[in-house]
Amino acid sequence: MLSAQEIANYQAQDNSLKDRVILVTGAGDGIGKAAAIAYAQAGARVILAGRTVEKLEQVYDQIISTGGCEPLIYPVDFEGATEDDFNELANQCDQQFGRLDGLLLNAGILGQRTPLSSYRHDVWTKVLQVNVTAQHLITKALMPVLEASDNASVIFTTSGVGRVGRAFWGAYAVSKFAVEGLVQTWAAETEGLNSVRINCINPGATSTQMRAQAFPAENPESIASPQDIMPAYLYLMGPESSQVNGQSIDAQIK
Ligand code: NAP
Repeated sequence: MLSAQEIANYQAQDNSLKDRVILVTGAGDGIGKAAAIAYAQAGARVILAGRTVEKLEQVYDQIISTGGCEPLIYPVDFEGATEDDFNELANQCDQQFGRLDGLLLNAGILGQRTPLSSYRHDVWTKVLQVNVTAQHLITKALMPVLEASDNASVIFTTSGVGRVGRAFWGAYAVSKFAVEGLVQTWAAETEGLNSVRINCINPGATSTQMRAQAFPAENPESIASPQDIMPAYLYLMGPESSQVNGQSIDAQIK
């Protein structure tokens, strides 16, 4: 595996993802949008999954206008999606492509920045549904089509507050601790049994709507842009990370 510095500075070969079929969740905005565009520019056929179709259409247009392979749009809301919905997505991947080569599980919500003692139950349930339960169910449903690839990569999205507990991050922090555990458990259960690798990325401070919601007084230009952190996303999705499994990787050097 490359060092943290090498990953943050990684430069993918041209067409490193040529003809790969990659599904990105939360592809309409922020980091997911940048990743969908980066994967398409690297030659992938990207499935843009998310809840706001207009945003997905804008990403679609951007990919087409920059000469990328035509993407697909797949509307899905992780708050209400059921196991049947994810199984239907898996069926469609199977029918259309016979496989899935990459899955970037990026969609997430912040919830409240408040002490646990006053955290609202309904917000807690929603954050854990979107950030954990739905992430697990979509992975479970898509595992057969991922196994049909010769070399598939699943990337979950973690956070620094999912590694060390910090005050006032509530359900979001707990959800990211759960993501770290999910990745380790999935990776341990599939190691040596199939060609699917399962890792997570910690983007680090990145200027998006979620970051602005968490740190409203911060100057967005003082931190990384979503485009700045794409080297790690390309590395972990591409062929050079094919032996990396069960790792939690930083997109930025500390
Ligand atoms: P963002 O700009 O708020 O984007 C989040 C994406 O998730 C949006 O596309 C959003 O769709 C989608 N999403 C939210 N709820 C959804 C739902 N119920 N169903 C389907 N899609 C849903 O946030 P971001 O900063 O890019 O975050 C991306 C990931 O990085 C998250 O997992 C976040 O926890 C993680 N992260 C971010 C930072 C940071 O500094 N930005 C740091 C550490 C970790 P809509 O556009 O339709 O709302």
